[in-house]
Amino acid sequence: MSIDPFPERVVARKMCQRNGTINSSIPLGKLQRLSEYLHDNHGQAEFCLSFDSDENGIDRLSGTVHATVKMQCQRCLEAVTVELASEFILRIAEDEANAREIAEQFGTELEVVSCIEDQLDLLAVLEDELIMDLPIVASHDDDNCSDRLNQLKQSAEKAVPKGQGNIQGLEQLAALKEELKKKT
Ligand SMILES: [Zn+2]
Repeated sequence: MSIDPFPERVVARKMCQRNGTINSSIPLGKLQRLSEYLHDNHGQAEFCLSFDSDENGIDRLSGTVHATVKMQCQRCLEAVTVELASEFILRIAEDEANAREIAEQFGTELEVVSCIEDQLDLLAVLEDELIMDLPIVASHDDDNCSDRLNQLKQSAEKAVPKGQGNIQGLEQLAALKEELKKKT
């Protein structure tokens, strides 16, 4: 499969008229809203898009997008690999008013995206699809993945017995007070 350049915005009407396709990838770093949910933004999102018109003559974008991302495991707080994948069919409206018309005519089962000045924001479409596929909570398959963290905590507690840090602090404070008394 050949890799096309990725236009962040396209003139949707023209793409649909000529049944255009785009098979490409984008670095996750470009997807800032998605990156907020991730452990890091290394990697790529790969996607296949095709443009045409449906049986009612409405412009349509069909596609798949997938990305392998790292999220933070909610048990051990280390990185966990998560596969995101989405398959979607969207109707393309000329603008917000046209989007409302499509919704009124065909109901809400059609997902509609709107163009702004003939341009469709492909980057936002793909990012939305990936965000919708994010798991609510990410964690390793291994239920015991937090054991290592607990071990670290335990060995840290052994190394510094509870309260000792505070006592040292109080001693230092007392010494400082003595110093001040001597000076006055
Ligand atoms: Zn974990």
